[in-house]
Amino acid sequence: MLDVDKLSLNIPETTKPRVVIIGGGFGGINLAKRLKDKDFQVVMLDRQNYHGFWPLLYQVATAGLEPDSIAEPLRKMFGSDNYEDFHFRLVKVNSVNPIAKTVHTLVGDLAYDYLVIATGTKTNYFGNEEVKKNAFPLKQIPQALNLRSHLFQCFEQASMTADPELQQSLLNFVIVGGGPTGVETAGALAEMRKHILPTDYPGVDFSRMNIYLIEGMDRVLPPMSPEASEKTLKYLQDDMGIIVKLNTLVENYDGYVATIKGGEQIQAQTLVWAAGVQGALIDGLPAEAVERGRILVNRYNQVLGFDSIFAIGDIAAMKTEKWPKGHPGVAQPAIQQGKLLAKNLSRLIRGEKMEEFEYNDKGSLAIIGRNRAVADLPGNIHLGGFFAWVTWLFVHVMALVGFRNKLVVLSNWIYRFFTYENGTRLIIRPFVRKGDKVRRDFVDKYNVE
Ligand SMILES: Cc1cc2nc3c(=O)[nH]c(=O)nc-3n(C[C@H](O)[C@H](O)[C@H](O)COP(=O)(O)OP(=O)(O)OC[C@H]3O[C@@H](n4cnc5c(N)ncnc54)[C@H](O)[C@@H]3O)c2cc1C
Repeated sequence: MLDVDKLSLNIPETTKPRVVIIGGGFGGINLAKRLKDKDFQVVMLDRQNYHGFWPLLYQVATAGLEPDSIAEPLRKMFGSDNYEDFHFRLVKVNSVNPIAKTVHTLVGDLAYDYLVIATGTKTNYFGNEEVKKNAFPLKQIPQALNLRSHLFQCFEQASMTADPELQQSLLNFVIVGGGPTGVETAGALAEMRKHILPTDYPGVDFSRMNIYLIEGMDRVLPPMSPEASEKTLKYLQDDMGIIVKLNTLVENYDGYVATIKGGEQIQAQTLVWAAGVQGALIDGLPAEAVERGRILVNRYNQVLGFDSIFAIGDIAAMKTEKWPKGHPGVAQPAIQQGKLLAKNLSRLIRGEKMEEFEYNDKGSLAIIGRNRAVADLPGNIHLGGFFAWVTWLFVHVMALVGFRNKLVVLSNWIYRFFTYENGTRLIIRPFVRKGDKVRRDFVDKYNVE
């Protein structure tokens, strides 16, 4: 029996200043890498034992990549690196006590000299519990695998019914949120509809498969330039046959029917919720330090009111003249803040002045489908089509962590480019949403031991 009371964080005592990093995401790993061989004990706490490369998560959900090619174990990343006095623990941090300078976890407390909160974001359902219960979020690897399993169960079931209404609801896919995740997921489904599904399921008429992309604002890819939005809309609608609804809000989803504000209903057994994120906050910071779900920090990433607590990446709101609402929730600010904070912590213990953070915006990219992407690059350069697509592929392979992952993803893409094959169309563990009793019973019946 596992006696949880006998577990503890078990971090060795040290005379060096202890830096506790909560989160091994883009911000956390870039900070930890650069604290190597500096005069600190570094403790990283994460509720998952790997660093996830979220820009490629939609490819896991749509059977393009296996999950292990977009994730790198944190112990491998730092343990095989002769990194002395680095300690990883797989644990969720529940709260912080800034007065006692401790963090609280399920297996005990840990004192820190410097605390870095790098917890990123979580899905925002805007308080709609029904949507939370029934929709498929796309923020974590287990969620992507759930969606993949569900998608292929829908196709299997669509091949086993002659009832047009049931088949239509199995072949209707609603994606809420026209940001990069929504656009990329819709595009990947459209590619599958064109190149893969008709061969896998010859009895199903895939001209009836509808992919809806629903966005509350008046354009897709709202964080990108109007030029990129316009090109993307054309690719989605005209070239790929995706039904895009702008200025449209989904009010409810019960697992079978999506209700749109105004009353329109879409019968769909799949709804992907890519409509918003909120900061993955940790309890214990004063209310004044938090604004709209993000932690307010100064130009050194110090949390408002605290000298020894820092926040970096998506969770941090650093308002500057150029970025009055804080930086965009993308990987580059997290990476750059992590790198600079490593230097600033060293400066801090030497009693030197810290350097202010200035975001170097390298532009943004989004992929829509095969040979189709958009790019906003510095200098007001907007690219679309094949050249942007190649740029997207190159940037993402280079940014992946781990040589093996780069190799696996690149060879996978090359193979897919020539064969049009998505190799991972597997239902390993049939996923059923909590509360979907009908599906549960059905799956249990065919999943006989
Ligand atoms: C589906 C998707 C697609 C994206 N596509 C792009 C893209 O194409 N380009 C781009 O630039 N950006 C993209 N982003 C955004 C980008 O991934 C984030 O901006 C980036 O990951 C932020 O880094 P971070 O370090 O702040 O947080 P993350 O990388 O999210 O890391 C946070 C870490 O904290 C851990 N954690 C959270 N709470 C706790 C807790 N209480 N205790 C312990 N551990 C905790 C998590 O497990 C996670 O490992 C995408 C994001 C998603 C979800």
